[in-house]
Amino acid sequence: MDLHSVHMNAAAGHNFDVIILGAGAAGLMTAIEAGRRGRRVAVLERSDRAGKKILISGGGRCNFTNVHTRPDNFLSANPHFAKSALARYTAADFIALVEKHRIAYHEKTLGQLFCDGSAQQIVDMLLGECSSAGVAIFPGSQIQEVRRATSSATSAADHPANPGFIVRAQSAVFSAPRLVVATGGLSIPKMGATGFGYDLARQFGVPIVEPRPGLVPLVLGGEDFARFSDLTGVSAAVRVSTGKRSFAEKLLFTHRGLSGPAILQISSYWNGSGENSPAPILIDWAPGQELLAPLLAPGSARRDLAAARATLRRALPARLADRLLEVAAPHSFTNHGLAELERCLHAWPCTPAGTEGFDKAEVTAGGVSTDALSARTMECRDVPGLYFIGEVVDVTGHLGGFNFQWAWASGAAAGRAV
Ligand SMILES: Cc1cc2nc3c(=O)[nH]c(=O)nc-3n(C[C@H](O)[C@H](O)[C@H](O)COP(=O)(O)OP(=O)(O)OC[C@H]3O[C@@H](n4cnc5c(N)ncnc54)[C@H](O)[C@@H]3O)c2cc1C
Repeated sequence: MDLHSVHMNAAAGHNFDVIILGAGAAGLMTAIEAGRRGRRVAVLERSDRAGKKILISGGGRCNFTNVHTRPDNFLSANPHFAKSALARYTAADFIALVEKHRIAYHEKTLGQLFCDGSAQQIVDMLLGECSSAGVAIFPGSQIQEVRRATSSATSAADHPANPGFIVRAQSAVFSAPRLVVATGGLSIPKMGATGFGYDLARQFGVPIVEPRPGLVPLVLGGEDFARFSDLTGVSAAVRVSTGKRSFAEKLLFTHRGLSGPAILQISSYWNGSGENSPAPILIDWAPGQELLAPLLAPGSARRDLAAARATLRRALPARLADRLLEVAAPHSFTNHGLAELERCLHAWPCTPAGTEGFDKAEVTAGGVSTDALSARTMECRDVPGLYFIGEVVDVTGHLGGFNFQWAWASGAAAGRAV
């Protein structure tokens, strides 16, 4: 399709088979799949260029998938919802695309795949595929109105229950029987994130699971803040848990509280914004280790604070070891006192005062309720022709490439259906 001619005609109103709102990871994947199937596809992107979030992802190298992707790596009110899409577009499918474009990549840790070069290569790959599939992308599109076509304007419709959609952007009017919402979540408003997708869902009566920040640093208050705020920059390999979930990764002290992969992971599960008082998270400062075993060994020469400190410092950063002992050292270093300290070091309760919010959240948890969507196609059950994909949906991945894998998989599911 000649992009220029689309621009020229669009001012007068332009028909497509599919309109996609948002040229991020999910929207571009839908565009590719639908375009390859011969659909006439328009992607309307508010920002001046496509795939901006991909560019800043993974520290500029884009952690584009995870080879260990399983449904268990995703949170949703319905934990079964993501299974179908994830099974039909796998990490191997995306890797095959990356390899087809000769993009060099490596596994960093825990199955996380990153570009050797830059995230720009992933954006270029997606845009190249869009171009071969004849997809028309309209950057800088300010969307002013989305509505159902009236029955008298049903040239776009392909089903009696679906009169199609009209999208009015600042410079043009678009119509199509299928509308795919891929406008992402609320994370990083500085980059232009808005609640547009949720507003659109509400407009069409589609329910929302309250959005909340996910993969986000936690803020400490009161006693915990006083204990740890001067440890900024110290990190340790810990296991953090809340409820039945736990993550063994690094924790990093920040000037406001806690961060690092272990904390980002648990933040998505931490129920801090509920009506009940926030639950504590439990920190195991040395998973799998018996820290005080040397003091308990028969014939141990010393059992006192200095010996405990020396032992802890072998397993933990010195300043952290000292601080933990300042807080939790027993009055007497009896077997019982040491056992109690050992227990405490493996289940240290810490009650965050909150999170750093959407400004610092890598994803938005919650979103368009999966109850309203078909797990196979992402189409709204009660609004034929309307689809929601990617981060705007109530499916949130763990840290490590899973959020992009959900964007690719849900995008492919919709692209194959529209
Ligand atoms: C700093 C950072 C690093 C990350 N790193 C990784 C990583 O390495 N690996 C990983 O798996 N995940 C990562 N993520 C998460 C990942 O980027 C998102 O989950 C993913 O981009 C979601 O894809 P999406 O297409 O649903 O939404 P987005 O990528 O957010 O795309 C939505 C698009 O819609 C556009 N849009 C919004 N409103 C409108 C509107 N009204 N009209 C038209 N267009 C609109 C936006 O401009 C945007 O281009 C990271 C996130 C952040 C913030």
